[in-house]
Amino acid sequence: MDYNNENNQISNRKYDCLLFDLDDTLYPLSSGLSLEVTKNIREYMFQKLGLEESKVPELCISLYKLYGTTMAGLRAIGYNFDYDDFHSFVHGRLPYNMLRPDPVLRNLLLSLPIKKVIFTNADKNHASRVLSKLGLEDCFERIICFETLNPTDKDTVPVNENVSELREISDISDYSLRPNADLELPNTPVVCKPFEQAFEQVFKIANINPQKTLFFDDSVRNLQTGKKMGLHTVWVGTSHRADGVDYALESIHNIREALPELWEAEERSESVVYSGKVAIETPVKA
Ligand SMILES: [Mg+2]
Repeated sequence: MDYNNENNQISNRKYDCLLFDLDDTLYPLSSGLSLEVTKNIREYMFQKLGLEESKVPELCISLYKLYGTTMAGLRAIGYNFDYDDFHSFVHGRLPYNMLRPDPVLRNLLLSLPIKKVIFTNADKNHASRVLSKLGLEDCFERIICFETLNPTDKDTVPVNENVSELREISDISDYSLRPNADLELPNTPVVCKPFEQAFEQVFKIANINPQKTLFFDDSVRNLQTGKKMGLHTVWVGTSHRADGVDYALESIHNIREALPELWEAEERSESVVYSGKVAIETPVKA
């Protein structure tokens, strides 16, 4: 892979790619959309998969913790369902009107002369609806989503034949609280954050050199894997410090205050004049 073939100005920069999570990163958690996603996932588990209603909330959290997404965990413990059906139930019914256009973020992104890529565990319809509601649909070179990392033919959704003692819902919940080295967790066929395989695929697909890439996410465990894989990391939505986090931003709007060097080379060349208005909050460099 040749990362230095574009031009000298770009290859001499500290960063040549910005990799963004989507949900709760490019818009705030306070929008309420994530709560609606959780509600829909629980409903799917109860209504479509027939899980006992009272056990759903706990299992939902345990699977999310163990497998990156609840969906990946459901596949691991033996539920075989159509991915598109899951996504249209969980995301297709969301009240996207909770999201508003964000011209401040749009100006910030468009004024950055660096490749920008989305990396989300969500499906492509969700990604494009969110980006269009935020008015950011033309701000990214590439969107890497569920379908990119999990290409399937409808008729060949892999069946999980992994046999494990951890099939019972109560066992899975116990395991997530007290991991037991004697028990083998069943594998999931789903590729997603925060696992290394997902990052490796993203680097290949989008021709990303992790050492020259800044990765923005609201999930600290995603950032910690990213850091291990060589990425520079920005925790969005908090000012807390944590291992594996290089920078922390209360809001993605603080990117210019926390990382002015992203604009510096361009400002020196005076080819782009930044005209966006930035909402000032306190960025913390962790
Ligand atoms: Mg997120």
